[in-house]
Amino acid sequence: MRYVSTRGVAPVLSFEDTVLTGLASDGGLYVPEIIPKLSHKEFIELSKCSYIESAYRIMRLFIDDVDDMSLKLLIKKSYTRFCNDSIVPIKQIGNNQFLLDLFTGPTFAFKDIALQFMGNLIDYFLKKRGEKAVIMGATSGDTGSAAIAGFCDCNNLDMFILHPNKMVSEIQRRQMTTVKQDNIHNIALKGNFDDAQAIVKDSFNNRGFIKGRRLIAINSINWARILAQTVYYIVSALAVGAPFRNVSFTVPSANFGNIFAGYIAYKMGLPIRQLIIATNVNNILHRIIEYNDFSIRNLVNTIAPAMDIVVSSNFERLLFYAYNKDSNAINNLIYNFNNKNYTILDEKPLKKLRTLFYSTSVNDNTILSILSQFYNRNGFIVDPHTAIGLMAAERCNNFPEIPMITLATAHPAKFYDTILKSGLFLKLPSLLNELLLKEEQYSILPADISKVHSYILSVCH
Ligand SMILES: *Cc1c(COP(=O)(O)O)cnc(C)c1O
Repeated sequence: MRYVSTRGVAPVLSFEDTVLTGLASDGGLYVPEIIPKLSHKEFIELSKCSYIESAYRIMRLFIDDVDDMSLKLLIKKSYTRFCNDSIVPIKQIGNNQFLLDLFTGPTFAFKDIALQFMGNLIDYFLKKRGEKAVIMGATSGDTGSAAIAGFCDCNNLDMFILHPNKMVSEIQRRQMTTVKQDNIHNIALKGNFDDAQAIVKDSFNNRGFIKGRRLIAINSINWARILAQTVYYIVSALAVGAPFRNVSFTVPSANFGNIFAGYIAYKMGLPIRQLIIATNVNNILHRIIEYNDFSIRNLVNTIAPAMDIVVSSNFERLLFYAYNKDSNAINNLIYNFNNKNYTILDEKPLKKLRTLFYSTSVNDNTILSILSQFYNRNGFIVDPHTAIGLMAAERCNNFPEIPMITLATAHPAKFYDTILKSGLFLKLPSLLNELLLKEEQYSILPADISKVHSYILSVCH
């Protein structure tokens, strides 16, 4: 399988090079040259398989440069730290209403599903090549811990995660700083999240500083993350009756990585009727779908912080398909967007998107009321991001006869304070409780790129 950039200029790459490269050299995102289709019969066969076996059969179609045995082992290893045997348990919460728990991994958020796999995969490729790498990432809380949990057992790389000092919650910080492995380095930066992100970005424009090692980014634009997420769309749809019937999904969305994986499942032939984009008030995705308003607005801090974004980077991948893989059109749209902070989609591709994608935006007050309403109706608590999904599933579901699966993206205990604010009480799971007793390890550095670089060089293996 070969991978091409949405902007059409960067070289065509193998799966291995795509994963190790991340962002394409023309600024675009890599997508598979052809999306393989599964037949009706193959879907039926998959419905009899375990999660691990399904993941293998689905991902195998996109990966031709890892041998069968190694790929099987990589996948198996990636899901050993999940606390539920089915990996993604599904619950019925109403008539044709389902909730898919994606947070049974080591850091209690859906990002574990992709980052556990990506860690093992990248380490495998580096070992094969005899290369060492440095991974850098900035986090406002959630991605950092999932990335660290995904890469802490990798022997061929050092990982540096920058978080804004004193601006992440204690649980979030401890999920990162109590990981003992000596290839993991936490930096608490004396600045805000934007300062941290700017240092990471500038480091990529200045790769020379790490002297011969490969520098890898850990953000949601990596194709391996999308691919690993496609699996649970197929597995859960089959669990509620596909391929014999249509299924719809509602996805709490920010960078558009999660729901784009659902689009890939759709392109592979999974009968999906609606893909509902649920956003908080940072709602560029909703504004695009509903009003063709593809414009930047200021960031608002919400009680669903993992969805606080200004631009959704993976949306470019969807545009590529909406515009029938016309890279010139994509370059024009992005050029306008970068220069004017807005762009306008053509009617035809937008109309096409609107037959599959629906959207809504949910504010903090509504999140709080959904949290208690849901508890009163169902007897268990969801997290604030999932609450946004549940509201969207109610507002946008046009086909009550079709099963609707809402993706639960995080464990409520990760957002303990918000749960208390909604008037509910929650016991911390023992794994999170134990964090409070563990020893932390991190370095506090000024928001100064040269200081960060000399620190990286001094501790790198
Ligand atoms: C990252 C995240 C999201 C948003 O997912 P995208 O792939 O960026 O759309 C939603 N909920 C939680 C809890 C997250 O951590």
